[in-house]
Amino acid sequence: MELMEARTLLPDPANEFDRNVPRICGVCGDKATGFHFNAMTCEGCKGFFRRSMKRKAMFTCPFNSDCKITKDNRRHCQACRLKRCVDIGMMKEFILTDEEVQRKREMITKRKEEEALKESMKPKLSEEQQRVIDILLEAHRKTYDPTYSDFTQFRVCSRTYFLSLNSSVQKTSRLLLLGGPLSPPMDINLSHLSMLPHLADLVSYSIQKVIGFAKMIPGFRDLTAEDQIALLKSSAIEIIMLRSNESFSLEDMAWSCGVCSVFCLLAGHNLELLEPLVKFQVSLKKLNLHVEEHVLLMGICILSPVTIRHLEPGIDRLSEVLQTYILCKHPPPGNRLLYAKMIQKLADLRSLNEEHSKQYRCLSFKPEHSMQLTPLVLEVFGNEIS
Ligand SMILES: [Zn+2]
Ligand SMILES: [Zn+2]
Repeated sequence: MELMEARTLLPDPANEFDRNVPRICGVCGDKATGFHFNAMTCEGCKGFFRRSMKRKAMFTCPFNSDCKITKDNRRHCQACRLKRCVDIGMMKEFILTDEEVQRKREMITKRKEEEALKESMKPKLSEEQQRVIDILLEAHRKTYDPTYSDFTQFRVCSRTYFLSLNSSVQKTSRLLLLGGPLSPPMDINLSHLSMLPHLADLVSYSIQKVIGFAKMIPGFRDLTAEDQIALLKSSAIEIIMLRSNESFSLEDMAWSCGVCSVFCLLAGHNLELLEPLVKFQVSLKKLNLHVEEHVLLMGICILSPVTIRHLEPGIDRLSEVLQTYILCKHPPPGNRLLYAKMIQKLADLRSLNEEHSKQYRCLSFKPEHSMQLTPLVLEVFGNEIS
């Protein structure tokens, strides 16, 4: 046992190149091949030392016991060569017996087999699963513009009014969304809904993008037109909230595309929606999802309204890809319970969706407001007036 422990102290051959040790045999000065029995030596002196120790050889110097050993004369005096070996630190304790050599070989084989087994047991994304991820990534890339350059085309009526609100007012409102006093700053005229046209255009634009994304989800186009429409109607706002997380900033507690809470208040929404929405964005952001997980969650979200039962195989497939992805690609500690947390986010989205519908109904009930909406928004969210 002592021998085995001593051996583990041997320099690791892989590290030898990092050391500043001259690669010259300490015995004869020939080119060394590494550490052998605790000293840097050539193959010749390594073999000589091992053979001498195994034979328990006793050599006698024919000269004065102080021969200088060189590459060329190393065979001339075995006694001085062996003495040199010991002087530079070579130790017989480091020599393996035949039995130990055999045991070591077996151990290496066993370790290799174990590693191969472990490797084969590791969860892996199948080619098909990777293909699904690639398709969703491409679909997202084609339908989400992180520069938000199209946003300049949206209606901006009353934007000057919005911009005239000073930043301290915006900050107050952010604080109030984070659990502060529940009264909006007095100088904001909420009945005015000055940002409604802009938000309507933003949402309308986003719905188009969500439709584009949905159409590229594997299997979505195979559904009947009715099912496709039903899925989009029920999930559009959830996907918009979900994908907007990409632009949400924890520092600003706002979306970098320019949307903030005051903005939403001025577009007819109230804190019953905004407070949980901001909380949702914060907790989702903190999950630090990979973009692959983000797109899979969107895919699952679109396919999973409870009302359409026969979609389950499609959802199961995406869920399986997501779980496998987390297992093999998301490192700890972030992967801990990640799948469960993501599925919880879907439940959060569902209640945000319900609150949004409620507020939308109130809003669209007034003709002066519903006339500011777009045909697509009216179609997807429903029009209470018609
Ligand atoms: Zn040598
Ligand atoms: Zn000698």
